[in-house]
Amino acid sequence: MADPRREAERRRNAHPPKRSFQDQFSDDTSPVGAELVRDRETLKSLSGKKLPKPQETRIMTVANQKGGVGKTTTAVNVAAGLALGGLRVVVIDADPQGNASTALGVDHSAGTPSLHDVIIGDLSICDVLKECPHVENLWVVPSTIDLSSAEISLVLENGREFRLKNAIDEADLDVDYIIIDCPPSLGLLTLNSLVAAKEVLIPIQTEYYALEGLTQLINTINVVKQSTNAELEVSTILLTMYDKRTNLAQEVASDVRAHFPEETLDVEIPRNVKISEAPSYEQTVLTYDPRSAGAVAYLAAAHEIAQRH
Ligand code: ADP
Ligand code: MG
Repeated sequence: MADPRREAERRRNAHPPKRSFQDQFSDDTSPVGAELVRDRETLKSLSGKKLPKPQETRIMTVANQKGGVGKTTTAVNVAAGLALGGLRVVVIDADPQGNASTALGVDHSAGTPSLHDVIIGDLSICDVLKECPHVENLWVVPSTIDLSSAEISLVLENGREFRLKNAIDEADLDVDYIIIDCPPSLGLLTLNSLVAAKEVLIPIQTEYYALEGLTQLINTINVVKQSTNAELEVSTILLTMYDKRTNLAQEVASDVRAHFPEETLDVEIPRNVKISEAPSYEQTVLTYDPRSAGAVAYLAAAHEIAQRH
């Protein structure tokens, strides 16, 4: 009869026990473990690191007329990453839905002094600025639902596309970055944002039709460039909601990189549940869960943006 101890050992070797979920995470030879180790190292090397101040204020508009591609998420998290790197940052929420104001924890109930009063009324940006409660050196120009009427009330106004630019010029803010979060359309609010900015940051969701619709955006940018704002350039493209396990995401990412080799950031933002949870706590993912893969990726994106110029 076979030795029962040997038999047990033979069986164990033939069917090695499944590694626990925990083990997979603590073992840096598994793909998940290796990623976690990489994230931890990235976080260690970036957190607390001071970012270089630009020579003059960089005004970046986060635009893409498609909804749900990560514009707001990118605007608030890149802004937080820059501010955590010691820079002074203002986020202008130019979307009447006010999602950026929510994610940055500032009040934007109807009637709150907001971008609407700057664009339509006679308040200055300085009158409506609110400090983000979670991140130092980060301020917000909130948007309220009142802004939804702006597209219509501006239509007949002279110089309607210069309202935001004039307000930014007049405020003459002592900050390093102004980041504008656009609504998902190519209407007057997005136009105002493009006229006011020097750079466009386009988030691209790595899924079907990612490049479709981009032609329209680039055409609009070119029209603005030729007519009113010669300085404007698409400086940055960020791949968002990237799921590298799918061939599709990899194909889209390499397509985008082939079209925009200079503009596309090296870092990709993974699809990550912490990113989508953070706004319900009125936070950016960088403060909500700084060690999560999403936070580390956005911190790295902010650093790449700051280092590139
Ligand atoms: P947009 O401003 O372009 O409409 P959002 O930034 O609001 O897009 O993102 C759309 C939705 O997807 C939001 O619910 C957001 O929390 C979620 N989201 C954005 N980026 C990610 C990500 N990398 N992983 C998981 N969820 C994300
Ligand atoms: Mg949005």
